Amino acid sequence: MPVRVRFAPSPTGPLHIGGVRTALYNFLFARKHRGTFCIRIEDTDQNRFVPAAEEYIFESLSWLGIVADEGPLNGGPYAPYRQSERKEIYKDYVYRLVESGHAYYAFDTTAELEDARNKYKSSGPDVFQYGAKTRELMRNSVSLPPGEWEKLITGGVPFVIRLNVPADEEIRFNDEIRGEVTVGSSTIDDKVLMKSDGMPTYHLANVVDDHIMKITHVIRGEEWLPSAPAHCLLYRFFGWDETMPSFAHLPLLLKPEGSGKLSKRDAEKGGFPIFPINWKDPESGEISRGFRESGYLPEATVNFLALLGWNPGTQQEIFSMDELVEAFSIGKVNKSGAKFDIEKAKFFNQQYIKTRPIGTLREFLEMRLEENGTPYSPARIDKVIEALKDRVTFPDEFYTQSLYFFSQPGEFDMNVIQKKLTPDMASILKEISSGIRAMKVTSASGDFKELISAVMIKNGLQPGQAMQLIRVLVTGTTTGVDLMLTLEILGPGEVAERIDSALLKLTQ
Ligand code: GLU
Repeated sequence: MPVRVRFAPSPTGPLHIGGVRTALYNFLFARKHRGTFCIRIEDTDQNRFVPAAEEYIFESLSWLGIVADEGPLNGGPYAPYRQSERKEIYKDYVYRLVESGHAYYAFDTTAELEDARNKYKSSGPDVFQYGAKTRELMRNSVSLPPGEWEKLITGGVPFVIRLNVPADEEIRFNDEIRGEVTVGSSTIDDKVLMKSDGMPTYHLANVVDDHIMKITHVIRGEEWLPSAPAHCLLYRFFGWDETMPSFAHLPLLLKPEGSGKLSKRDAEKGGFPIFPINWKDPESGEISRGFRESGYLPEATVNFLALLGWNPGTQQEIFSMDELVEAFSIGKVNKSGAKFDIEKAKFFNQQYIKTRPIGTLREFLEMRLEENGTPYSPARIDKVIEALKDRVTFPDEFYTQSLYFFSQPGEFDMNVIQKKLTPDMASILKEISSGIRAMKVTSASGDFKELISAVMIKNGLQPGQAMQLIRVLVTGTTTGVDLMLTLEILGPGEVAERIDSALLKLTQ
């Protein structure tokens, strides 16, 4: 059977990075098996619906190169792919279950349910569960005589439809990551399948759609593992046992310290993003930062996420999307949670910046220079990027670490100046600058070194004694790209000009 998988997010807010990982694993699995990757929007819960969330999901996935074969944007043979547009389909299916006795009408009001819960609370440690043990005590089409509940329906009394979970049965299924899972049916409640407004719940819509859309593998977060037994029952009750998809429940993303589920609060505390792209809360206007806006490259983010819970079984760490497709297997997804380590994400970013062609990095620097109205020559941009490539973690550092390449420093490291810029040294530096001015415009870094050394030695000094001072006069600071390379990029004219004007300023 051709592999068909789906990513089925609910548009209830920004997609957490764990959700992005789920999408990525589905995508990799589909590509690996030359199958189909679908996106289905599970928006049946109207109370939790957030209008901007769907767009956010698509923008995030498209930034990362996780492309759907079928979905709300590009359609497909099982359209529509938005559950709110499939309402009638679920109704038809849920009534089939009612007819076969695997589902029933329940008329309990909120107050009645509350009452039942309270009674349980006061009578012992058990929590109330609507199920085989309590069903008879409630108001539903199992406990009431037919004449009575039919009258309620024709009288327009609101009802929900619940799953009729059998008493004391073992439900078994295989999870591709966890192996065989066995759950006693008494631990599962009679889940609501259709709400009183006629909308299906997640459980019903999810199973019906996975069946109709011919999904072969359900790869989703561990938080859905407790729902899987109820889903297995639904497959059985519908008579779809034969085509029930395989399940794979992915491990949780854990806090950086390693215990407990990673939360938005952890991200705020640790100052790192856990959303793919910036999210603006529609109510508060508050912005949660994304990987994209924090300067992570999409390919680094994908590589980082892929290894968060999956290991290739080799020492290889750097994977392009194609290599991931090649190497990925569900069997190598870890059972235990994956510790979120932002340092690792930074490491990947560094690696990808190092290997990216200059042309794809240029825009990061150009954009910032333009924003700040700093004049620049395109030729210098490329040299600066080449010089900084191995030193930066984020593209923005191409700007913050290169300011002195584009404008003369206004301030100087005064510690160095006070300690080293003696009157004697100032006149030697003047000698150096006139030597540099006489150099060829295209001088190589070796020429600068030679000239500086010659002047220093002539004056009975070590060449090294001038280097830090020259760096401060030319760039303002004591750190940065290799000094000789810096001088080469600036060129003799500009270097001489900078040394002279700094000396003028500092020796008055
Ligand atoms: N709509 C569910 C979610 O938001 C999908 C769970 C599943 O994949 O079955 O995660």
